[in-house]
Amino acid sequence: MGSKKTRYVYFFGDARAEGMSAARDEKGRKAVLGGKGSGLADMTAAGLPVPPGFTITTVACALFYKSNRTWPAGLEEQVEAAIARLEALTGKTFGRGDNPLLVSVRSGAAVSMPGMMDTVLNLGLNDSTLQAMIKLAGNERFAWDAYRRFVQMFGDVVLGIPHHDFEHALQSVKERRGARLDTDLDVEGMKEVVAEYRKAYQRAGKSFPQDAREQLRDSIDAVFNSWDNPRAVKYRQLNDIRGLLGTGVNVQTMVFGNMGDDSGTGVAFTRDPSTGQNKFYGEYLMNAQGEDVVAGIRTPQPIQTLAQVDGKAYRQLVQIRRKLEKHYRDMQDIEFTIERGTLYMLQTRSGKRTIFAAVRAAVEMAQAGLITKEEAVARVPAGQLGQLFAPVLDRKGEAAAETQGRVLAQGLPASPGGACGQVVFTADTAEAWAKEGKKVVLVRLETSPEDVGGMAVAQGVVTARGGMTSHAAVVARGMGTPCVAGAGQLRIDYAAKTVGVDAKVVREGEYISLSGFTGTVYLGQIKVQPSEIIQVQDGLLKPRESLLYRQYNKLLKWADSIRRLGVRTNADIPRDADRASKMGAEGIGLCRTEHMFFEGDRIISFRRFILVADEVKRLRDELAAAGDDEAKAEQIRNRLAAPEAQYNQALRELLPLQRGDFEGIFRVMGSRPVTIRLLDPPLHEFLPQEEDNQREMASTMGIPVEVVKATVTALHEFNPMLGLRGCRLGIVYPDVSAMQVRAIIEAALNVSKEGIRPHPEIMIPLVGNVVELRLQRELAGKVIGEVLAERGIKSLPFPVKIGTMIEVPRGAITADEIAREAEFFSFGTNDLTQMGCGFSRDDSGKFLRPYVDMGIYEYDPFQTLDRAGVGQLVRIGTEKGRATRPDIKLGICGEHGGDPASVEFCHMIGLDYVSCSPYRIPVARLAAAQAALKHPYPARKAGAKPGRKKTSAGKTYAAGRKGARKRKRRYASPTAAR
Ligand code: ADP
Ligand code: MG
Ligand code: MG
Repeated sequence: MGSKKTRYVYFFGDARAEGMSAARDEKGRKAVLGGKGSGLADMTAAGLPVPPGFTITTVACALFYKSNRTWPAGLEEQVEAAIARLEALTGKTFGRGDNPLLVSVRSGAAVSMPGMMDTVLNLGLNDSTLQAMIKLAGNERFAWDAYRRFVQMFGDVVLGIPHHDFEHALQSVKERRGARLDTDLDVEGMKEVVAEYRKAYQRAGKSFPQDAREQLRDSIDAVFNSWDNPRAVKYRQLNDIRGLLGTGVNVQTMVFGNMGDDSGTGVAFTRDPSTGQNKFYGEYLMNAQGEDVVAGIRTPQPIQTLAQVDGKAYRQLVQIRRKLEKHYRDMQDIEFTIERGTLYMLQTRSGKRTIFAAVRAAVEMAQAGLITKEEAVARVPAGQLGQLFAPVLDRKGEAAAETQGRVLAQGLPASPGGACGQVVFTADTAEAWAKEGKKVVLVRLETSPEDVGGMAVAQGVVTARGGMTSHAAVVARGMGTPCVAGAGQLRIDYAAKTVGVDAKVVREGEYISLSGFTGTVYLGQIKVQPSEIIQVQDGLLKPRESLLYRQYNKLLKWADSIRRLGVRTNADIPRDADRASKMGAEGIGLCRTEHMFFEGDRIISFRRFILVADEVKRLRDELAAAGDDEAKAEQIRNRLAAPEAQYNQALRELLPLQRGDFEGIFRVMGSRPVTIRLLDPPLHEFLPQEEDNQREMASTMGIPVEVVKATVTALHEFNPMLGLRGCRLGIVYPDVSAMQVRAIIEAALNVSKEGIRPHPEIMIPLVGNVVELRLQRELAGKVIGEVLAERGIKSLPFPVKIGTMIEVPRGAITADEIAREAEFFSFGTNDLTQMGCGFSRDDSGKFLRPYVDMGIYEYDPFQTLDRAGVGQLVRIGTEKGRATRPDIKLGICGEHGGDPASVEFCHMIGLDYVSCSPYRIPVARLAAAQAALKHPYPARKAGAKPGRKKTSAGKTYAAGRKGARKRKRRYASPTAAR
């Protein structure tokens, strides 16, 4: 590119737009012309009234940077030719004559980047064309107003004279003349403003060019240069906009909304951008130019009232609204100007909208036949779907709090939703107060597993430390509890029970409110409203009473008919399983049993177990070693008696509790699969760390507190996440695994009697070596045999699968061996990321953010699966697992299961399902459908057996060589799935 013949300028006007041939499709046109240029070309070609002009391509901008900020050869001539064409078409002359051509110079990249650069209007005015405009318009004030606007914009945007210098000048003239609004200034006033502006130029050592061509050249340069200004660079970074060439430049004949009361200007959306309602939505101002509407100088009028003011223009706009939606098949955001009763269109682009509006518009457009249901599904941003379920702060209340200066702190929007309640500082207080019916907000420096109970009853959670994947953030998102994390300005004093920022101090029991959408924490109360979808799910509202629910439901039904991945949930308790079912979960992909040990008094039983387990084990070993030495054995038995009694008591207490938990879950899930993971976390997490609790435990067990302390110390691990956890626990203390397997099987047998046919899947965590799995599997088999014998039955009346979590890199690499012992794999991508990248889940926050900023990792690998690294471990595990056992069930659990980009990857490498927290299930359903639309390789329907197809005759057969080859190709290239 870049030869003299390259075309950099595309003309539009008189119902013809050269830009339509710049690329084959709209996407290509946007890339070359920018969004604004492409929209102007489209509208012109469609015969809409667009003031003529031309677009300089983004390619020219890219070359401008390549050649040291100079114009590519040929551009100047092409701009000159285009100006000549404009002159011929409009009968006006540029920079001179009785009928001067005035233009605007507007930037516009392929993706709209608000705030990148301001537009220059009324370009071409100078001391002589000003006089011509006065005569032409017969309105001296209008011409001077246009002039002062141009002098100001040129000075500000092109020459970089500080904006406030102009503001100041205008203000001083207004004050001197006793004018309240700009429109109160008369001709003399406007002249004075221009004179003051000129002084601002002088002070800045700049001069105002009288030559229109110089004005144009400088303005085009300024637009090019704006592409690289820090604001624009930052905006692209923040919004993850990559791979664009540069900005386009649009030079367009001016039309004037400020020529009198028969003129005006406005902005509108073809549908309501906050609700999605199919109604014309917009605002306008009569006798105003350009950005007066958004600038808030006067209060604009709702678009519907234009019908009375200018019926013709209004009817035309209504028609154009329909035409544009039909053409773009999407909601548009438009700008228009009326000049002396004639309507002109100045911009159209796809309108930004809330998730609520996105769902409604997509569903209604599909129902109206404007788009297909696939397009509707593809269009709604899956990642934002969670916002539909959160309770919300009353908008007016929030705005009022802001104006009243009640913002306390700003943190990360960790879990969406609004919350309001009384501040508490401990989980215990939260639970106690909640029992009394109080609404509380839990404020902590950070949270830990001991706080889960308190978090569950809190309206919202605020932490001073921790990022988007901190314990608080992850757990809160899982629960659907609004959370603001990492509000670093907060000073929390647990002893004094206060939290504050500077002079603002909140005591325990006082109210705060928070928005998990924005990360803002407010002083005092703001009203909270529950999501309608939740109300319908819980039977508090009928579907017909909630449009939001019906449309959400419709969209997800469509998604379900498209997706190939199954969607399961991570749920530990019946209540979560129930919510997940209502969200559409097809099973439980991860039921973490450790959470069951924390509830109520169970923790006491489990602590009892931990505190004696090691001693029991040691003495039992000694006893075995004593052999025939009966005297010695007797002595050991005596020492063993007391701890073993505690040990057995603990297991006896836990068994029925766990069994009850599982029964509850099986009842909710019916015959859907339930993957239950045996105990995973290191033991120290269960022990009391505080002196008070240690004493209490010692007295409960009737042992010295020193013993408790010693055990706590003994179990301390330097890196517990790599320590005695997962299957290692079950191997060292097999009685725990045995108790859990027994609880699962007995629970399943019990509910079988109620007519339920449960599908338990027992999952052994953290396996890195096939022998680990074999040992635990054998143990499980033995326990199942015992239960069968006790109940006097030959076989279980339901299927049981035994499988493992692949979350240690060695497990992924040796998945072929592990698959010999496993009927399913669930990729635990949290740990796999931790161990695959070597990042601790708990304190990698220190460097992960800079890592992402520097582009070392594209995204936080704990949030979005790192396809090139950790993703390859998953892929290898998938291939190797299927090589050994073609019908092995493969899924992932972990935070990634609810992340759209990660779900897409899971689809691409051919997993069977993803599992995520209940509130992320709709996200996963939609993301899975979007992935299937994007990568439509020979489909394997969700839930279908891999490699098997149903023939029309209803027989099944294994996929032949062709299918096998296809799958191979999919997995073949390590980067194919990036
Ligand atoms: P932004 O990207 O900030 O919206 P625009 O290039 O759309 O900037 O222009 C800013 C304002 O000027 C808009 O209100 C637009 O309608 C108005 N405007 C731009 N070009 C013209 C023109 N040729 N005639 C009249 N108004 C214009
Ligand atoms: Mg605009
Ligand atoms: Mg794990």
